[in-house]
Amino acid sequence: MVEDAITRETSCLVVGAGIAGLMAARELQRQGVQVITVDKSRGVGGRMATRRFAGGVFDHGTQYFAPSSAWFQSRIAEWRDDDIAREWFRVRSYEMDPRFLSSARYCGHPAMTAVPKQIAEGMEVHTEARIATLREEGGRWIAETDGGTQYAAQSCILTPPVPQVRSLFEDSGLTPDAETQAVLAGLAYEPCITVLAICDDAPDLPDNGVLEFERGNLRRIMDNNRKGISPGVHAITIHASGDYSAAHFDDDPDQVARSIIEEAQLIMRVGVTEHQVHRWRYSQVIEPHPKPALQVFTRPPLAVAGDAFGVNGVEGAARSGMEAARLIMRQLS
Ligand SMILES: Cc1cc2nc3c(=O)[nH]c(=O)nc-3n(C[C@H](O)[C@H](O)[C@H](O)COP(=O)(O)OP(=O)(O)OC[C@H]3O[C@@H](n4cnc5c(N)ncnc54)[C@H](O)[C@@H]3O)c2cc1C
Repeated sequence: MVEDAITRETSCLVVGAGIAGLMAARELQRQGVQVITVDKSRGVGGRMATRRFAGGVFDHGTQYFAPSSAWFQSRIAEWRDDDIAREWFRVRSYEMDPRFLSSARYCGHPAMTAVPKQIAEGMEVHTEARIATLREEGGRWIAETDGGTQYAAQSCILTPPVPQVRSLFEDSGLTPDAETQAVLAGLAYEPCITVLAICDDAPDLPDNGVLEFERGNLRRIMDNNRKGISPGVHAITIHASGDYSAAHFDDDPDQVARSIIEEAQLIMRVGVTEHQVHRWRYSQVIEPHPKPALQVFTRPPLAVAGDAFGVNGVEGAARSGMEAARLIMRQLS
């Protein structure tokens, strides 16, 4: 639903419809709290993203997720029961990361956005609504979008990447206490330049379609066709490494894309007929804060959540959203 310019009232305003915001909103709604979720993008999901072009389908943000806790293992089981997630591949035993409970790696079904889309069902979510400022007025938060729509909310959860949360505070003249400011200032993300390429043949990649690199300019090459989300089209997602992305983030995107494609072609050994570039300024947090969510203000309550808290990745973001909902519930009651 696209916003129109009026004032809306709600008990909780959740900013960001990525997995953290959606999990928070759904939990609050389940507990009987009225919630509106807003996102600046055209769709929901945030970094759990799928894009289509030239007949290809690309997961171009998160590629897969895996459980490091029984809680997330149960969520994945629910998503699989609902047919919005499936196992993609298993890592070999010698590659097992001790943080994870199993060797299985899961993805959205039919593509990554299936998970956030289903969680958003039955909830009030306003897309293309970027919150530009936030102020406290009469014991409520007043959040205003670029388009001038105002949301008056008894409580608020912010789930954009932390540097964007800090910008929102600065633009709004809001000053958290010194300890909170120090925590937020210390949360850094690595960028990821992503190239989406249509190939003229099946690339030379392992059977599951994913090749990951420990070092060098590339982080991963993924064949969305072999992943099962791009039938009939060899749609390849190439993620550059964090170091390479940081060094070339502001370079000419076409030149950077050509250079990434050339390097990937040495491995894939196929032609690339079309491509697009996507630059994720905040792809993954480097070192998350140990707390699963942060209470920033109490009157009216405001919490910050997302993958920067607890553990990183989809699991951390989902748990953080749940925890932020609990923090807000305690304050509202
Ligand atoms: C290239 C890449 C590869 C990754 N690979 C993996 C992986 O393999 N496994 C894994 O577990 N994780 C991976 N991740 C990380 C994972 O995608 C994230 O940890 C997770 O999706 C974060 O969810 P979130 O809800 O915290 O944030 P987001 O998904 O970023 O959601 C935040 C939302 O806030 C919105 N927003 C921002 N500012 C405003 C505003 N002012 N007003 C309104 N809305 C706003 C944004 O549009 C966005 O939708 C990857 C990420 C990237 C980019």
